[in-house]
Amino acid sequence: MSKFKIPYGRQSIEQEDIDAVIKTLQSDFLTQGPKVLEFEQKFADYVEAKYAVAVNNATSGLHLSVLALGLKKGERVITTPITFAASANCVRFAGGEVWFADIDPETYLLDLNSVRELIESKPKGFFKGLIPVDFAGLPVNLESFKDLADEHDLWIIEDACHAPGGYFINSKGGRNRCGNGSYADLAVFSFHPVKHIACGEGGMITTNSEELYKKLLLLRTHGITKDDMSEDHGGWFYEMQELGFNYRLTDMQSALGITQLAKNEDGVIRRNKIADTYKIAFGNKVKFQFLPKDSYNAHHLFVIECENRKGLYEFLRAHDVYAQIHYIPVHMLPYYKKIGYEGANLAHAEKYYDSCISLPMYPTLTEEEQEFVIDKVLSFVHG
Ligand SMILES: *Cc1c(COP(=O)(O)O)cnc(C)c1O
Repeated sequence: MSKFKIPYGRQSIEQEDIDAVIKTLQSDFLTQGPKVLEFEQKFADYVEAKYAVAVNNATSGLHLSVLALGLKKGERVITTPITFAASANCVRFAGGEVWFADIDPETYLLDLNSVRELIESKPKGFFKGLIPVDFAGLPVNLESFKDLADEHDLWIIEDACHAPGGYFINSKGGRNRCGNGSYADLAVFSFHPVKHIACGEGGMITTNSEELYKKLLLLRTHGITKDDMSEDHGGWFYEMQELGFNYRLTDMQSALGITQLAKNEDGVIRRNKIADTYKIAFGNKVKFQFLPKDSYNAHHLFVIECENRKGLYEFLRAHDVYAQIHYIPVHMLPYYKKIGYEGANLAHAEKYYDSCISLPMYPTLTEEEQEFVIDKVLSFVHG
């Protein structure tokens, strides 16, 4: 036993978070009250988008996103194989077909050229949309994806679950926050405890489109509304206009989301400090995720590659360091294997999976703990 027990990620809940939840429990609203709206407005401001819709988790957010964009049975969408399964599953929820393009072997992000090749290998109109993922917290350059999407009449959902606080600088020199809606139609965030902002469960969809915003609100609550009705029988009256869901976030969770969001900027700064420390220690001895010029990584994860990855994983566990693997490529999961996969060559994704490992990365990771992790990694890699 070592003196540390270090997970790859963890939430930080302080007294002010606890107080905010207790206060909401003592208020008139437990769900869909003022805290939901406050959280939505603060979140939209933070990512610099016009609208935000809180949902009960990011998977629901992705589901509502494909529905709001009108995805129908049999329609095809391209995403990355190196992501959590939900990025692809949302297409399946709507009866759509998932196609995978390969990743860039240095940034680990969906590779624009691989997406272009896949699109151009098919007739016009074959694909409906793209779901790029800001993997590990590194923002996808959506400006170039948007050009490609416009050429082929595709929508874009940015899966920004790893990236609140990340940004890239666009070709005009402007800061483009993940989820700001400048280039993507919709963006989705997660508030699972292992992500930046912990609500227990929770998610947020951001957009600059008023039309999509209204559709999302409708679909979040059963498709029921009291606005824009075709009839009105009196004060009690409502209409169910679409087949919607109950994907609402509670006021308790929103209260927690508000206090957590307020700490995110500092949390991301701390994550970047930790990343810099890893990078300086590893130098060119260990390969880590490449940071393109003009990008700010929100660092949900810190991913390195190691030839004997399984050996390193077990060696670290033996020292109570619980590194993780992100991710098993989605097309290799039994469900996706079973429904058959045909598409681009995913050699980079598969090679990446053979060597990737995510080291501990969270704001409360101490310098002493991080030194311990670095020491163990280097002693394994160099004996
Ligand atoms: C966590 C995650 C999701 C799903 O988030 P939930 O809130 O757990 O539903 C989707 N996509 C990515 C990339 C994620 O990391």
